[in-house]
Order: sequence, then C-alpha cells, then structure tokens
Amino acid sequence: MIGEIELKPCPFCGGEVVKIKAPLGTEMFICHKCGMDVCFFGAEHEPKATAVYNRRKDNG
Ligand SMILES: [Zn+2]
Repeated sequence: MIGEIELKPCPFCGGEVVKIKAPLGTEMFICHKCGMDVCFFGAEHEPKATAVYNRRKDNG
C-alpha cells in the first residue's frame, strides 16, 4: 500500500530521516545519524511539510 510520501535522506550525512508529529501543528524531521533536526511551524497538513522538506535546490 502506497500512501506515505517518501522522505529524502539527510542533506548532511545521507542518513535516514524520520518524521515526528510535534504539538502545535509542527512537523519535525530528525536524522538519528548526525542529529540534524528541522521543524515546520503551522504545517498542519503533513503532505505539505513533507513536500517542503523534500524540496531541494538540486534534484539530488
Ligand atoms: Zn544526518
């Protein structure tokens, strides 16, 4: 079953990134390998936050 949008690997170390739902409509993306974490306030719609995270200047 395909429904989840796949997350791109960590931009710093290439490690696996997990998404965590934080309070106040915040989506957090955390890399367990290097400790990177980013969050998007007000991204109440999960696909939107994921799309923003996945958006890169290059297409790599
Ligand atoms: Zn990383």
